Amino acid sequence: MADKNDKVKQNVSGKYYIDNTCVPCNDCLEEAPMLLKYTDDESKVYFHKQPSNPEEEIAAKKAMEICPVEAIGNDGE
Ligand code: SF4
Repeated sequence: MADKNDKVKQNVSGKYYIDNTCVPCNDCLEEAPMLLKYTDDESKVYFHKQPSNPEEEIAAKKAMEICPVEAIGNDGE
């Protein structure tokens, strides 16, 4: 389960986030390319945008479900 106290610092504030256990493997980017980006050093992925419509909400949920290390959470602030 993702830890909201260990967020990748670049995440935009809001419900969805990625924590520092991200590998990164790229799987989530295939599900939600409109919401996610690599950090400049490409060591992690983060939410640069929160979902703002039903399509993006589904994409964020799919990204969370597919993450092999459960680095994506939806209980952020
Ligand atoms: S699926 Fe998980 S481990 Fe892979 S890049 Fe996304 S957040 Fe990181």
